[in-house]
Formats: sequence, structure tokens, C-alpha cells
Amino acid sequence: MSLDLSVPPFIEDLSAQAKEVALAATVDRPLREDSWLIGTSREFSLELGSRGWLGMTWPTQWGGHERTPLERFAVFEALISHGAPIATSWFADRQIGPTLLQFGNDDQRRRWLPDIAAGRSAWCIGMSEPDAGSDVASIRTRATHTGSASDAPWRISGTKVWTSGATEADWCYLVARSDPDAPPHAGLSEFVLDMSSAGIEVRRITDATGNDHFCEVILDDVEVPAENLVGTPNGSFAQVMRQMEHERGGIDRLVSNRALYLDTRRVIDEPTELQRQEIARIETGYRIGRLMVLREVMGQAPRGWSSITKTFCTEFEQRVASFCASVAGPDALLWNRVSRGVCYAPAYTLMGGTTQILRTIMSDRILGLPRR
Ligand SMILES: Cc1cc2nc3c(=O)[nH]c(=O)nc-3n(C[C@H](O)[C@H](O)[C@H](O)COP(=O)(O)OP(=O)(O)OC[C@H]3O[C@@H](n4cnc5c(N)ncnc54)[C@H](O)[C@@H]3O)c2cc1C
Repeated sequence: MSLDLSVPPFIEDLSAQAKEVALAATVDRPLREDSWLIGTSREFSLELGSRGWLGMTWPTQWGGHERTPLERFAVFEALISHGAPIATSWFADRQIGPTLLQFGNDDQRRRWLPDIAAGRSAWCIGMSEPDAGSDVASIRTRATHTGSASDAPWRISGTKVWTSGATEADWCYLVARSDPDAPPHAGLSEFVLDMSSAGIEVRRITDATGNDHFCEVILDDVEVPAENLVGTPNGSFAQVMRQMEHERGGIDRLVSNRALYLDTRRVIDEPTELQRQEIARIETGYRIGRLMVLREVMGQAPRGWSSITKTFCTEFEQRVASFCASVAGPDALLWNRVSRGVCYAPAYTLMGGTTQILRTIMSDRILGLPRR
């Protein structure tokens, strides 16, 4: 008996529809790679919202559409593969919304989820700091409760870095140290920060490709209302780990540079023997990566699976970039989509958790190998 991997026709229709929408949205956007991270557009965010493609799986009570994870997968695989500018809504749809659904209270869900699902709000993620990237437990940004009453506001000071989309974000999902005396993993809390608050300075950082989507965010005694604390005070480490699973295990990790690959394939008239072999490897890798993501999508993945998915898929994306450069030949030395793709590729295995850290998670938590 063979394994049937076909999907129902309505899923294929949805995917075709999303591809059409992506192609229409990219007519004036020659760069279609990494569109979930650098393709910002408030207008397209609203369009996604009006099509019901944000918060697709969330309860209707909170502005969602109660559709299946497979439908969401089909829509975003097509949108990202064809370069649709989804960055303005992506972080919120991918991980902030699910985090608020799981750890927020009803007031918070009512306050933030319908706006996300309508494409009206943009969010950024304030985890990394100059000395706390891989090691979240060493976060130093300090959150101080200003009174003994539970509704007293917090004041937050510190520096966040590599904060993607901070310049256009309305809200920042921020992790800060709320108990300096607790053990490192135990004294962290999560806050929703209004990016228009007094005391926030956002400085753009330009990367090797000339893009400046990520930023340094300096917080100087920023007041945050008590009701913006999400989940358990001083207990956010487990929440962060759960949020990282949403960040690591999705289709965005496989198809960031799929548009470049598809265009590269189109310019190959007659592939050489070596190119045929590499195309075969890439096509196989794509299918394997897709199955890994689907396992997560279908709720069939064991805990920690996202570390495997992210490692495999982002190394795959680096292979895709190298292949495109090999096809371009000397043209890859000129500044164009291919050279940009090659310069950007190292970022895949860094952002959202480095491959070295993820391999440690695999060996430690999934395989249960002994630590030296
Ligand atoms: C394009 C991009 C977008 C990003 N967007 C965001 C964002 O929106 N919000 C946000 O909060 N962060 C963001 N980041 C930051 C990202 O999460 C961090 O870069 C990542 O977690 C690694 O942290 P670091 O850069 O401080 O490197 P470090 O943690 O300093 O690591 C440096 C090197 O040492 C290795 N290393 C560190 N510790 C260990 C260990 N214990 N064992 C083995 N090797 C180790 C790492 O693998 C890495 O190779 C983004 C990064 C990139 C590249």
C-alpha cells in the first residue's frame, strides 16, 4: 500500500487563490525573497484581514475564523513562496496571537486579537539583547513594579536588539527581568508594550544586504500598565519556549527563498548533470521539509520537533541560495537578487534560535543523550 499525500481539492483551490493574490501583490516588487520578514505593507495586511487569512485557526469569539491548520498552511505556503508582503502581520499571526490565546486573559484577547485578525496592528518581538540571544535566561532588561497594589504600573528599562519590524510596530511583545533576585530562568515576565509610549527610542540597523528591517530598541523608564503583563509574573520562561515553537516550526522556515529558486529554474535551458543532481536534492529536500512542517501543522509532532524542523529547513534554504548562485555563475558577483540571497542566507540558521542551540535541544530533550 502506498502513502497518499494528496490534499482535498478545496485545499488546492485555496492554495491557487493565495498564489494569485501573491502574484498580484508583487507586480511592483522585484524582490520576493524573505517577504515574511522584510515585505512590509499595511495595505496588504488589511487585505489579508479582509480575506479572513489572519487568525485563520483562532476562535471567532476573538476575531478568528476557526478554519483548519491545513488551510492556514496552504495559504501561507503559497503567499510566502511567491513573495507576498506579509511581514506587517506575520509575527502577530504566527506567534503573538497563539501566545495570547494560550497565556493571555480574556481582557487581553478582546483587546488585541481582533485587531491582529483584521490586519490592523503590527507587532515586533523584543526578546534578544546585546548579551542575551541564544541564552534567553540572561536577559537584563529590567521591569520594576511601581507599587504594592496589583494594578500599579511597571517601569521598564534596557536595550533590545535585532528587533525586526520595530520601526513600524504598534506593539512589542517584550520579555524582561521582573525579579532580579530569582534564579535566571525564574525571574522573567512578558509584557505588551505600546510602541508609542514615552521613553522608547528605535534605531535601525542596516544588515549586509542593505536592508534595515531590524533595530535596536532602547527603553528608558517606559511605563507599562499592569494589565499588559501576559501570563504568570516571573514565570515567562516556559511561555517563551512555547512561543519559540510557533516561531521555529512553520512553513516560513522552508520557503523564504523559494521564489528565487523557482525563477532560477526558469532560466536553466538545459541543466548540466551536476545541476540535475542538485535540483533532485533540492526537490527532495523541499518535500521532506514540507512533511516536517505538516507534521507540526497536523498536531502530530512530539514536543521539541520544531528544533528539528527549523534546523533542516533553514539549512535547506542555504543550499537553495548556493544553488542559485552556482547557476548565476559570475553574475552572482554583481549586486542582484542572487547575490543578495547569498548574503542573506547565513541569517536563516541564526534567527529564531541558532542551529547549534537547536542541535543541543535535539540531543538533550529529544534524544535524551547524556551531557558531558
Ligand atoms: C534576521 C534576523 C532577525 C531577527 N529578529 C529578531 C526579532 O525580531 N526579535 C528578537 O528578539 N530577536 C531577533 N533576532 C535575534 C536572534 O534570535 C538571535 O540572533 C539568535 O537568537 C542568536 O543570538 P545572538 O545573535 O545573540 O548570538 P549568540 O547567542 O551570541 O551566539 C553566537 C554564536 O555562538 C553560538 N552559541 C551560543 N551559545 C552556544 C551554546 N551554548 N552552545 C553552542 N553554541 C553556542 C551560537 O550558535 C552562535 O553561532 C533576529 C536575528 C536575525 C539574524
